[in-house]
Amino acid sequence: MIPEHARIAGEDALNDAIDILKRGGLVAFPTETVYGLGADARNPVAVRRIFAVKQRPANHPLIVHLADVSQLAQWAQAIPDVAWRLAEQFWPGPLAMILPKHPDVPLEVTGGQQTVALRIPDNPLALALLRQFGSGIAAPSANRFNHVSPTQAAHVLSELGDRIELILDGGDCRVGLESTIVDLTGCQPRILRPGHISPEQIADVIGQPVTLSNGIETRAPGTLALHYAPDTPSALCTQSELLQQVAEYLSKKRSVGILSWRDYPQFEGRVRLQKMSDDPVAYGHDLYAALRQLDQQGLDKILVEAVPDDESWLAVNDRLRKATAAISV
Ligand code: AMP
Ligand code: MG
Repeated sequence: MIPEHARIAGEDALNDAIDILKRGGLVAFPTETVYGLGADARNPVAVRRIFAVKQRPANHPLIVHLADVSQLAQWAQAIPDVAWRLAEQFWPGPLAMILPKHPDVPLEVTGGQQTVALRIPDNPLALALLRQFGSGIAAPSANRFNHVSPTQAAHVLSELGDRIELILDGGDCRVGLESTIVDLTGCQPRILRPGHISPEQIADVIGQPVTLSNGIETRAPGTLALHYAPDTPSALCTQSELLQQVAEYLSKKRSVGILSWRDYPQFEGRVRLQKMSDDPVAYGHDLYAALRQLDQQGLDKILVEAVPDDESWLAVNDRLRKATAAISV
């Protein structure tokens, strides 16, 4: 039976978490990127529950989380040398690798594909859970499909608290943006989703260039046009568009929120400003909590000011574009 509200607990609930996973249930747990919604990756029935709870289409693959690189060969095959080098350099850490799947990996996990996404998360509670479980845990972000990813246990509770039994609370996620995903199954390594680990860092380790996917041909939720989105209509705009839009909204007596790395003292008291850092790492860390804050204000519109268009902002830019994809100013 699933209680109306999930229990939020810490390390003391690890044994309960293992019991739940072993009987095919779901446990939300912290990682350094965002909170995951975990199920036994070898159990197709449990994995199907993830899709039901998230209301996620079944053809969108999940990332399998492991405790140790020694497990890699149980989940992937024909593992190229570059995969071992990337694992050595970046695991545990915010990098997921796409590899040819081992025949035992259920197709439910891979969305019907012959490839699998694997990663070792860098979070003590996640690693303790994975070690004690002793096998792979399939986990997408613990939010409703297409919605803003959770970076605190309370976010998971508000997204899925009526649908799951247990949320392991590891505090605030250190990185706050989803992992970098690198596809190692083609002729050349390809980034499917930018994240904290940059294309240059990957290229440095493998000694060859990596390409950036345009995301169109990949069947992957993080690559859909609209993703990570608040419920309030949100638009990405330049500073001049923002100034013009705010003036327009205020003149029509409509409520508007701003998410920006700049300050707007002239609007104080009249608009809801979510002031962000001008450092891309800090901005990325705070982004989802800030979007949630704005989303709870019942605003008519959220205006997201564009960030610099350079390499260091790649992951943040990707998420901002997806959070606002439905609407332009
Ligand atoms: P989420 O579960 O919301 O964090 O998203 C998981 C991500 O894993 C998706 O955005 C996909 O891009 C990626 N993914 C998982 N498995 C595969 C795969 N076999 N091929 C391509 N992408 C994958
Ligand atoms: Mg997600």
